[in-house]
Formats: sequence, C-alpha cells, structure tokens
Amino acid sequence: MKLSVILPIYNEGMSIPELFGGITEAMTEIGYSYEIIAVNDGSKDDSAIRLNEIAKNRPEVKVIHFRVNAGQTAAIHAGIEHATGDVLIPLDSDLENDPKDIIRMLKKMDEGFDVVSGWRKKRWADKKFVRKFPSIMANKLISYVSGVHLHDYGCTLKVYRRDVIHGVNLYGEMHRFIPAYAARMGARVTEIEVSHSPRKY
Ligand code: UDP
Ligand code: MG
Repeated sequence: MKLSVILPIYNEGMSIPELFGGITEAMTEIGYSYEIIAVNDGSKDDSAIRLNEIAKNRPEVKVIHFRVNAGQTAAIHAGIEHATGDVLIPLDSDLENDPKDIIRMLKKMDEGFDVVSGWRKKRWADKKFVRKFPSIMANKLISYVSGVHLHDYGCTLKVYRRDVIHGVNLYGEMHRFIPAYAARMGARVTEIEVSHSPRKY
C-alpha cells in the first residue's frame, strides 16, 4: 500500500521545515511507502524556494506550483489529480493538524471504512460564541443537507481510499463536501477525534 499526503500551501514558508519533519516522522512510524504532494498555491513568500530545496533531495516529494493563488480547494484538487497512492491524505500546512493522527486514522480505516474524517473537537474552546457556535451550526446544516453525519466538515485532515475520490471535480470551497460526494459513490464514511493546534506562524 502507498500513501499520498497532499499539502495545500499558501505562504507557509515558516511552517515548512516543521511540517515536513512531522510528516516524515509519522510516515516512518507507519512504514508504508508514501509520497508527499506539495501544492504551492501561488505563494508570495519563500515557500517555493523551500519546497524546491526539499524536493531536490527527496524523490518522494513532488511539488506543483500554481502561477496565481487559486484557493485551498483548487490546491487540494491538483493534489488529488497527481496522487498515485492507494490512500489519499490531505493535510493543512500551517501545523494546525498533527500528522501523527494519520496512524490512528489508518487503523480506523482498516476496520472497514473508505473515508476517515478528522474531528477537531476541542477547536475554538476559547472562542465559544464567535467561532464555536457558528461552526456547530454550519456543520449541522451540511450534515442535514448532505445526509452524511460528521461534526467537522472543515477539517482538512481526512483519509480517503483512492477509488472513492478518483475523478472528483472540485471548485469553490467544495473540499468540505468530499465526504458527502464519496458517500454518494457508496463509500463508508466515519470520523475520529484529531488534535488541533492554533496556527503557529
Ligand atoms: N491555503 C491555500 N490557498 C489559499 C488559502 C489557504 O492553499 O488560498 C492553504 C493554507 O496554506 C493551509 C490550508 O490551505 O495549508 C488552510 O488554510 P488556512 O489555515 O488559511 O485556513 P483555516 O485553517 O482558517 O481553515
Ligand atoms: Mg489554518
């Protein structure tokens, strides 16, 4: 089995060393072969230079550069299109997600699921009224409309079997709805709690 970690990247130069360090550690622990697809979404900082530097010495790291900033969904979409793994794992690049969580998510997938979605249960504990409450309402609405019942559609960290999102067409802010799309394709979808840190840089 091969894993494809997909990174949407917009001005994350400061996070890139820690990000690649964390992913590499988690992948080494998991032990499957893997690739990292870094999609530089038209960054204006030094992200491009840093990514090219890493890719130079690591054949498993592939970098895609967008000329202009096209948004997180477009970046994830490009990553999905270029992924060659059996399991696709999009992950935020600002150190909000913890790559170590992938280990537990893959174990959950082994129980017979096609999609394991991350749930940042403790996010916004300090901003209950302005962020937590609107987020709960938004998630309840998506849950009702899509018929796929998750707590946190916005969490980028998810684990997908390739065949349930192969050929998916994404636009706008649609990456949140990939689990709903996958469920329509007959995928078994579940969620587990993942850790969450505030954006570091
Ligand atoms: N991102 C991107 N293009 C954009 C905006 C964001 O690729 O135009 C990336 C960003 O680098 C990060 C992820 O998408 O890895 C989530 O972005 P952000 O942290 O700004 O969103 P939030 O955490 O508030 O949902
Ligand atoms: Mg973020």
